[in-house]
Amino acid sequence: MKLVNLKDDTQVVSFIDAVKTGLGRNQGVFFPATLEPLNDIDGLLTQPFAQRSAAILKHLIGDELPLDSLQSMCEQAFDFPARLVEVEKNKYCLELFHGPTLAFKDFGGRFMAQCIGAFSQGERVTILTATSGDTGAAVAHAFYQMPGVDVVILYPQGKISLAQQKLFTTLGENIHCYAVEGSFDDCQALVKQAFLDDEFKQTLGLNSANSINISRLLAQVCYYFEAFAQLNAAQRQQVHVSVPSGNFGNVCAAMIAAALGLPVKRLSATTNQNDTVPRYLDSGQWQPNATLESISNAMDVSKPNNWPRVESMLKQGYFPKYEFYSRSVSEERTQQVMRTVAKAGYVTEPHTAIAYEGLLLDGQPEETGIFLATAHPAKFRETVEAVLEQAIEMPEALATALEKPCLAEPLSADYAALKQAVLARLTR
Ligand SMILES: *Cc1c(COP(=O)(O)O)cnc(C)c1O
Repeated sequence: MKLVNLKDDTQVVSFIDAVKTGLGRNQGVFFPATLEPLNDIDGLLTQPFAQRSAAILKHLIGDELPLDSLQSMCEQAFDFPARLVEVEKNKYCLELFHGPTLAFKDFGGRFMAQCIGAFSQGERVTILTATSGDTGAAVAHAFYQMPGVDVVILYPQGKISLAQQKLFTTLGENIHCYAVEGSFDDCQALVKQAFLDDEFKQTLGLNSANSINISRLLAQVCYYFEAFAQLNAAQRQQVHVSVPSGNFGNVCAAMIAAALGLPVKRLSATTNQNDTVPRYLDSGQWQPNATLESISNAMDVSKPNNWPRVESMLKQGYFPKYEFYSRSVSEERTQQVMRTVAKAGYVTEPHTAIAYEGLLLDGQPEETGIFLATAHPAKFRETVEAVLEQAIEMPEALATALEKPCLAEPLSADYAALKQAVLARLTR
């Protein structure tokens, strides 16, 4: 597979190198040089999830990984379902929250862990990442107990929900967590500084596990096929997919699926009040504002890292521009939609409610609408219970994590302190 740096097209790398380096020169993201349609989509849709996913990934990745390795990687990474649930007539919810950390980030995180495991072959690997909530948990669970791999996670003390925090700080073993006295931006700044420190980088075999890693995107392509596999042939003709968007990775994966031949008719990438892309589509001006805090906090992004990938696909004609929509939903409307969908008998958290609203804003009643449930409602329990005025069920995985002690160490937002703490812990 050949991938091009979208900021410097003279940098062309293999899949293995793109996975290992993450970001290219000038902070550019990598994207496949070409996307060829798959043969026999209908045949593929009859296959089981892991087998079909291996075939799709083989088509994308090519010679760098044999099909049987990909098949076992998919079996291990995708060992939970992506269920399509009919919520109302012609409106289906794709539930992506049945993984260990109850959010769709498990799909990408777990496949990335498989790739890094396959490519590091005995070398020491340390994954260093900052999290504002869901990514840390997905990465921690994905690499938990993997031989030769240590994970260091920085999070802002007191600024993420208890459920989010307990899902990774209670694991222990090869998962090392630091509660930083500062903001998420401070945590990200520490990570960036560590990557500029060559000696530290070499000693630990540092690898970043952030959301721009191409292996995460490719993994996400697979569940769009799984959604279509659960529709009948007639329904597949007119499908509108609505994706709640922050960093625009998930909707980018949907567009790749369409480029491979999955018959997605229309795509909505609906945002919260952080509306840089909707304003850009209206005015042609890229003008990010300061990031606003919202109840859909995993989408509080004003400079979406994956937008260049989406824009490049639109420019290359992989998806029709007139069928791509991106609109923003207010906080008040998000809560209203949560209540409306609850009346139809389905409980959503704020991110999922925004996806539902995307179907209402951009869809037609006779089409088959699919909106993505990116997190389990229990992960946003306080908000959901307050908005719906009803108690919600706690899944067992979360209830268990909530009872365990937090193993994170406190850390001041200072690079020397981070380096000392991590070296003391990992170079014994
Ligand atoms: C990360 C996340 C999103 C946004 O996905 P992007 O790929 O960043 O657009 C939406 N919902 C939840 C629950 C998330 O964790």
